[in-house]
Amino acid sequence: MTVTASAGLDIRALLTDGSHLIGPDWVPAVSGETIDVTNPATQEILLRVPRGGAADVDAAVQAAAAAFPAWRDTSPAVRAELLTAWAGLCREHGTELSTLESLEVGHPYWGPSPVARTLTFVAGMADKVTGQTLPSAQPDVLGMTIREPYGVCGCIIPWNVPGPIMVTDVAPAIATGNTVVVKPAEDAPLTCLLLAKLALEAGIPPGVINVVTGYGPEAGAALPAHPMVRRMGFTGSPETGTKIMEACAANLVPLHMELGGKAPQIVLADADLDRAIPAIVGSITLNTGQVCAAGSRVLVGRDRQAELVERVAGAFGRVRVGPWHEDVQMGPLISAKQEARVLGYLGIGQQEGARLVTGGHKLTGGAYDKGFFVEPTIFDEVRPDMRIAQEEIFGPVLSVLSYSDEEEALAIANGTRYGLNACIWTRDIGRAVRLARGVQAGSVTINGFGSRGVIGAPWGGYKHSGFGRTMSAESILDFTQLKTVVINA
Ligand code: ADP
Repeated sequence: MTVTASAGLDIRALLTDGSHLIGPDWVPAVSGETIDVTNPATQEILLRVPRGGAADVDAAVQAAAAAFPAWRDTSPAVRAELLTAWAGLCREHGTELSTLESLEVGHPYWGPSPVARTLTFVAGMADKVTGQTLPSAQPDVLGMTIREPYGVCGCIIPWNVPGPIMVTDVAPAIATGNTVVVKPAEDAPLTCLLLAKLALEAGIPPGVINVVTGYGPEAGAALPAHPMVRRMGFTGSPETGTKIMEACAANLVPLHMELGGKAPQIVLADADLDRAIPAIVGSITLNTGQVCAAGSRVLVGRDRQAELVERVAGAFGRVRVGPWHEDVQMGPLISAKQEARVLGYLGIGQQEGARLVTGGHKLTGGAYDKGFFVEPTIFDEVRPDMRIAQEEIFGPVLSVLSYSDEEEALAIANGTRYGLNACIWTRDIGRAVRLARGVQAGSVTINGFGSRGVIGAPWGGYKHSGFGRTMSAESILDFTQLKTVVINA
């Protein structure tokens, strides 16, 4: 599908300028201040959103707490119907949701938003959350467990894929009777606001989903610090995750966190490079490398290293880079801050002595001058201890490392603080299974990248990539707490 710059999207007709959602009302920030949300490909202002702070978060938490008792007591079957209705509206508005996300994040149009599928999956689970009856030593005593919601949940969302991540956290929370306050990222809050608007239109009662926009240290920090928030979910950087966990620790609030990665792609000697190379290229250029799952490290045996690097470099040269609406495969980075970070790593890689194979620069001239465009970049001869092999760059920068045997490949794969996901490329199923078991990561794909259409695959990390799992049937239970009830006849 070809899309024009705005795709005919009238953002002001979809969303109210300068407002976020508290209970039933679209309101400005208590301070009256706003944040400009810009298109990263052109720097045009798309809309202003409230610069929320502690007072706005408090109002939203109060609204969520007020909505909680009735929502908790709503039949799970009705909650399922309302989630299904929300899914229906998201399907109907799938192009608008996706276009809005492309406009604020800068990624190419990926087709209608997938959020409706997630909502449908969760809706199907809403009325299947059950407890157990327990064995008893007394014939006239009945023991059982029931699953209950926590109350008000806080969800802090990153800017890279805001729509899918918001739904991944919010849908299971509300399916099980919790109410939520969402804090979208300041760089890309619009898709989250539109999703909340569609939820209201679908009949989900006001106060069940609230959205407070604002900066991380202001609105974001106020959310886990609020004493009425009973559970948190966070996707973002490990550094911010640590702060959120500290705030949760002070209130003894449980949470799940997804904190990024440095995914290894282990290419064994018998790998089918015709399949592997397009997937490797896609895995690091997807969303301009700004995905926590980015396949940012290729580990290859020395005998195939030159061939692999040459072929990946050729494929990188064919990646069309530009503004998202211009039939491209890779858009800009989201912000000047992100561009400075990526360009910094391009310098660090060269200072550390890695071999720059292709890319390495900011793109300039014409449309490139309006946005934060960088070349897809390959560093070869990267050592495992280099910063470009250890740190999450969040840009289209691929590090190629070599290994001499399977044991060393595994040691390098596991030799970072992260452990979100990994890919293994081989025709030998025995080795694939052995490596899949050995890799310290929450998700391993053999001969592919990502979950490849598998439905309900749990998603989350080992080590500094976080803890807890989203997207799966089990993750819905994570939004409930277990109560034991004993009936003494
Ligand atoms: P990035 O640096 O790429 O923006 P972050 O992890 O800082 O990544 O941001 C992810 C989300 O966390 C955003 O919604 C951001 O506003 C929020 N955030 C940032 N700092 C804090 C903080 N101190 N407390 C709570 N949320 C925060």
